[in-house]
Amino acid sequence: MKSDGKKALTGRKLYIPPMTQAGGRVLAATFRSKGIEAQITPPSDETTLELGALYSSGEECFPEKITLGDFLKVTRSEGFEPSKTAFLLPTANGPCRFGQYWPLLNKVLDDLGLDDVLVISPSSKDGYGGIGGTSFFKTAWIALIAADILRKMLLKTRPYEKIKGTTDTVYEESLVMVEKVLERENLTYPKRLSLLKECLIHARDNFRSIDAEYIKGKPLLAVVGEIFCRHNRFANENMLRKLEEHGAETWLADVGEWVFYTDWSRMDTMIRHGKKYSTDMAIAKIKSHIMKKDEHKLLEPFHDDFIGYEEPEDITEIVELAEPYLPARSALGEMSLSLGRSGYSYFKGVDGIVDISPFSCMNGIVSEAVYPSFSKDHNNIPCRVFYYDGVNLDLDRDIGIFMELVKGYISRKKVERIYNIFFKNN
Ligand code: SF4
Repeated sequence: MKSDGKKALTGRKLYIPPMTQAGGRVLAATFRSKGIEAQITPPSDETTLELGALYSSGEECFPEKITLGDFLKVTRSEGFEPSKTAFLLPTANGPCRFGQYWPLLNKVLDDLGLDDVLVISPSSKDGYGGIGGTSFFKTAWIALIAADILRKMLLKTRPYEKIKGTTDTVYEESLVMVEKVLERENLTYPKRLSLLKECLIHARDNFRSIDAEYIKGKPLLAVVGEIFCRHNRFANENMLRKLEEHGAETWLADVGEWVFYTDWSRMDTMIRHGKKYSTDMAIAKIKSHIMKKDEHKLLEPFHDDFIGYEEPEDITEIVELAEPYLPARSALGEMSLSLGRSGYSYFKGVDGIVDISPFSCMNGIVSEAVYPSFSKDHNNIPCRVFYYDGVNLDLDRDIGIFMELVKGYISRKKVERIYNIFFKNN
């Protein structure tokens, strides 16, 4: 059953697939602020893969299998009632299989006689289908930025903590604080933004007070690749933590990058269709300006923390860096971002590029074909695509080999990393 809007969701529990744990949770909190009962789907596990495989043909991509499996797990949970359940599943046009998730889920639910389950597929285009219009969209945006900020604090702190687990605890507590601000009903948007900023400052101070030893010289790896797989810990078998266990610090391309890229892409298409001076273009520019302004507001207290980890001021920086390898106007999508981000990270002084990709996804396959020439042009920086399909055999061995290449690169690197004020000299 497809229907958008708050009315259709009344009396139902909405389940959100957690592409990123934090992103899914803050989005659920945003729905709760509109009086909608919402939560992320329960943690993925073996049953997820079994159900995903059982109801797909084998040609689907790994993230699709996980998303489908997680939703089907909900339909088998105790107390499940189709007429009181809704699933959130965004969709898109274009060559990527992401556009097929929605029809496949609906078909499987129909085949199972569960067509009373509501599947909502909201988009920014329709202002989230009457759930709360512009204010909902704006709140979802700052929620996503907050999640990106917390994740960045987690990843830049955890490799240096002295007591194992303290950063994870602070991260979890921070996320809960953020959820509480986001789920409050009847707050004006400016009030929520200001409360969220206060909450993030509090979280920042908690991260700063973690007992950590910031010693220079730890390899910093840029993590790029397919957005679901690089963010979803189940899909990538907790790759970032594994890289940390091998002595690295990771810098993960965040979700905000993808949002800015899709905005850029939409505006670029308008220009190519002769709509540079149109109402649509004016609206898109205003929206982008507001999004950037609110992002700056939330990022401002983290200025000192993110020295050396700055995001590009404009997504065109990334797009232009991809141009010699996979031009965004022709290659489209994540492969261009992966290459552009790799270039951006190189000039920030990272020590290696890790591309996380689902097995058989063309983004990883195409990027992998281009990385050798990218690497050659960038002082032979190590670049490696790691593929995932749920049956990786020896990830530790592969990471170990990659880290040897990283060590070799560090001894000859030409672009030095900039450290923030928390780092000490060795
Ligand atoms: S980018 Fe690849 S893995 Fe991701 S949804 Fe598209 S086809 Fe699937």
